[in-house]
Amino acid sequence: MTTNPQARPAFGTVLADQMAIAHFRNGQWTAHEMRPTGPIEIHPAAHVLHYASTCFEGFKAYRWADGSVRVFRMDKHVERMRQSARLLVLPVPDAEQLSKMVLATIDRVRDQVPEPPGALYMRPMLYGTMPNIGAASAPSNEATLIVLASPVWDYFAGGMKPLRIYVEDEKHRTADHLGMVKTGGNYAAAMGPTLAARDAHKVDQVLFCPGGSVQETGAANFLLLRDKHILTRSLDSTFLHGVTRDSLLTMAREMGFKVEERVFDVAEMLEWVKTGEAALSGTAAVLAGVGTLVHRGREHRVGTGEVGPVTKQLRAALVAIQTGDAPDTHGWLTRV
Ligand SMILES: *Cc1c(COP(=O)(O)O)cnc(C)c1O
Repeated sequence: MTTNPQARPAFGTVLADQMAIAHFRNGQWTAHEMRPTGPIEIHPAAHVLHYASTCFEGFKAYRWADGSVRVFRMDKHVERMRQSARLLVLPVPDAEQLSKMVLATIDRVRDQVPEPPGALYMRPMLYGTMPNIGAASAPSNEATLIVLASPVWDYFAGGMKPLRIYVEDEKHRTADHLGMVKTGGNYAAAMGPTLAARDAHKVDQVLFCPGGSVQETGAANFLLLRDKHILTRSLDSTFLHGVTRDSLLTMAREMGFKVEERVFDVAEMLEWVKTGEAALSGTAAVLAGVGTLVHRGREHRVGTGEVGPVTKQLRAALVAIQTGDAPDTHGWLTRV
């Protein structure tokens, strides 16, 4: 029997039935416990509800043909979560404990990991629970850490449709010193401009280019590609340092690509896309091709307007490692 892939639930709408939870109190973390995924109790004065002291992570575990499950670059995501917590002055999760919570959650819901191109999307989250509404400029000395898991199916079930992107060259996605933090407030800040651009220009996403300098979209990094050549913004505090970005650049270098990481502006991007490709990178889609850029009321076709060959080639190469079809030469996968 064939199933209609388009009938699959949308990304993030299904949760695995178990989650791991731990608390920070009296200066230390409690041991985690597993419990059924469901509502949590929270004090209405909790720091997070007023002052947005929260961060999260997102990464995937894959079911291999031999039945084993492998998590992709868990250590890098754990480190990024710790960095987010540090920059938000939240209690920093212990790396070993957070890794244990991730592995314990995957182990408990092992039978709920879909086959490729599906995966189990992992969503650790951390939030400040100190009950004090006067603490606008004081950090939360209590916190909760939860690891949620969500079975996800083929991101491109409806086909690899080229994206339409609005180029925003004035508004910022978020504050410059928080761009590298995976925190709820950044998505709240980008929501208004993104919905306005969707309404006005029928685009899928907004590419933020404050002051004309190309940065990233609301939830994905941005790459320019062509034969054996990639250009992307160099790492700084203004945008999220994607693990997918890092993995793709590492692989591209090994495949003989010239990989340029530097600041570039909208004019250079528009010149590039006359003949080159553009794509968004992130855990959910890995690499999603851009077909059109909308800038100041003008439409710029990216290459042929379809998802380009270099985008497809790099995406396939990374997915092959994740799903066990190509050797994991970097030790990126942890067996669960
Ligand atoms: C999560 C995220 C990314 C992509 O990061 P990956 O580690 O590749 O999944 C890029 N930009 C923003 C703003 C993000 O939140």
